[in-house]
Amino acid sequence: MYRPTIAQIDRAAVRDNVARIGQIAGTDVCAVVKADGYGHGAVDVATAAIEGGARMLAVALVEEGEQLRRAGVDAEVLLLTEPPVAALDAMVAARLTPLVYSHAAIVALAAIAQQQKTPLSVHVKVDTGMGRVGVPEAQWEDSLRWLTDSPLAVTGIATHLACADEPGNPVTAHQQQQFARYLSMAADSGLDPVHVHAANTAGALAHPNVRHTMVRAGIGIYGLSPSREIVAADYGLRPALRLRSEVSYVKRISAGTPVSYGHRWKAPVDGWIATVPIGYADGVPRALTNRVHVLIGGDTHPMVGTVCMDQVLVWCGETAPSVGDEVVLIGDGLPAEHWADAAETITYEIATGITARVPRKVVA
Ligand SMILES: *Cc1c(COP(=O)(O)O)cnc(C)c1O
Repeated sequence: MYRPTIAQIDRAAVRDNVARIGQIAGTDVCAVVKADGYGHGAVDVATAAIEGGARMLAVALVEEGEQLRRAGVDAEVLLLTEPPVAALDAMVAARLTPLVYSHAAIVALAAIAQQQKTPLSVHVKVDTGMGRVGVPEAQWEDSLRWLTDSPLAVTGIATHLACADEPGNPVTAHQQQQFARYLSMAADSGLDPVHVHAANTAGALAHPNVRHTMVRAGIGIYGLSPSREIVAADYGLRPALRLRSEVSYVKRISAGTPVSYGHRWKAPVDGWIATVPIGYADGVPRALTNRVHVLIGGDTHPMVGTVCMDQVLVWCGETAPSVGDEVVLIGDGLPAEHWADAAETITYEIATGITARVPRKVVA
């Protein structure tokens, strides 16, 4: 790689964040490493999470689970949604534990279990108000019968919270009550799974009643905040990603000189402008145009002018930058949360938006 634009990954931060979340929740932690570990690199994050005490890992795709297995990761890996039926054999071969909720998946998995004559472990997912996937309450009795009549071993019952990132939202308590009804019906039909889990990071940090035996933490293990109201740093979590580059070109311009597409910024006075080789094709949202700062040599400077595909510009005023000076875009006290706010999105989209063109490099 010739370009100095790199996402540096601090594995120790992930390890410590997992331990911290486990401590706060007082439960097992399932470390969610889907979407290439929220853009941090799934394998490095997965191994760091295990070092931090994660009981299991979770992914969204069979392919993501296969990647972990190829890298030698041996921990239990949950698959958070049912894969296409055509992928079930690959899922079983990769020893992924599915969250099931449809009759079709239960039947297909039961057939595989019958055939291979070993019990197949599943977690069943119920819908308590997320409204996305999960067994609806009206179907729970039937689903319990399908499961208990099958050779499948139900080792977990799970649900997902829709509004946990808003601490005052009453929906979370309502979901918790509905989950309790599902759990008591499951107990009545003889199910006593080891794992009961509902909480994402926001639930784990801010909602003591939803923790059960395990929390599924994604964003928090990366040291990022689930929302404006639930701030990762307040819980002792620290960011694991530092996005850095170097100044590639410098020039002095005079007051009133416009820069970049659309001439959406003009120099207020005579001064120095630096070009940095990173752009929206690397995951710098174009919506950040004229809205955030970067660090050059430890000093804060505004990023100015329209964000381009491969480059951005930084106004240095009277401070003359040099080609090769380090530019920090995220990290060293410039949190990804600033980008999320400025682009009117969430940290999740910022982290997963850093594209494959940016090499990930483990630094600690
Ligand atoms: C992604 C995901 C999580 C992790 O959520 P965070 O808010 O990142 O902690 C947990 N559970 C399910 C079902 C998910 O899809």
